[in-house]
Amino acid sequence: MRTLRLDGQGQARVAEAPEPVPASGEVRIRTRMSALCGSELSTYRGSGLETGNSGHEAMGVVEALGPGVTRVQVGQRVGVSAVAGCGRADCDACRRGQSTWCPRRRGYGSMHAEAFLAAETACLPVPEDLPDAEAVLVTGDGLGVPYHTSLKLDADTDTVAVFGLGPVGLGSVLLQSYLGRRVIAVDLQTRRLELAAGLGAAECVEAARHDPVEAINRLTEGRGVDAAVEAAGVPATVHQCFRVVRNGGLVLFNGEQPRVELSPSEDFIRRDVRAVGSWFYHVGEFPAMLRLWREGLPVGRLITDVLAFDQAPDALALFAAGETGKVLLQYGD
Ligand SMILES: [Zn+2]
Ligand SMILES: [Zn+2]
Repeated sequence: MRTLRLDGQGQARVAEAPEPVPASGEVRIRTRMSALCGSELSTYRGSGLETGNSGHEAMGVVEALGPGVTRVQVGQRVGVSAVAGCGRADCDACRRGQSTWCPRRRGYGSMHAEAFLAAETACLPVPEDLPDAEAVLVTGDGLGVPYHTSLKLDADTDTVAVFGLGPVGLGSVLLQSYLGRRVIAVDLQTRRLELAAGLGAAECVEAARHDPVEAINRLTEGRGVDAAVEAAGVPATVHQCFRVVRNGGLVLFNGEQPRVELSPSEDFIRRDVRAVGSWFYHVGEFPAMLRLWREGLPVGRLITDVLAFDQAPDALALFAAGETGKVLLQYGD
């Protein structure tokens, strides 16, 4: 089969590799669609990978079962979570569907390939009427991260600022707007602000030209936002998030980043501000994500580009330029 290789320093190529063989509890899936994620860019731009690739959002058709697999059948169309819980009946986290909190959780990758492996516990059955392109988002972190993040917002949240409009930030713009909240989108790139406006952002702040703290202060008449989502992954926007939330407001961390200095007194105590982290999503959240799609959440609007797998190196270069939404790779016809 063919797979994507990341050679480092922004170099990628499609190469031959042996078909992966599913171990106990695993299945092999013939890929129909995979999606590029912002978290892959540091590997792509940096030292690359000796083996496999960083792809971790994909869907396709199950074609081989490892020993002991009972939950999935050959021929089934599935999407996958890249983080798999152990699925054991005596695991508290897995019993509650909280796969990323499983102490024996495992990560899977190498999904930019004509076939890939997944744990049976991470396979999410795709209904017939959900198209491949949307299925990869509804079963993966494309919708999963914005959904998991959304669960942490207070029910009475009216105004949300989203800092950083990569695919994760854009997903929050789409979901929060769909839920009827006023979204203020912040990014350096004009193109990504245009995408955010198209996904329902009420206001867009071009951080290259305007101080986001001043702009949001003005837009909220000095009150501040109920919640600020940090999806840029840089210390400067962390500080901005704390400065734009109202007293008693919530800062939400999505973006992985280095250490940041915060002041308990200034940032938290004297303004009753709260901050929480949000990582990935749980397989137990899939039914609710699917329901949102069924009810009309236009998740496909996050996709700006679909390229054939042959053109994966071009797709990565396009995505790395920072002006797209979700970029998908299509396999077969
Ligand atoms: Zn991802
Ligand atoms: Zn478990």
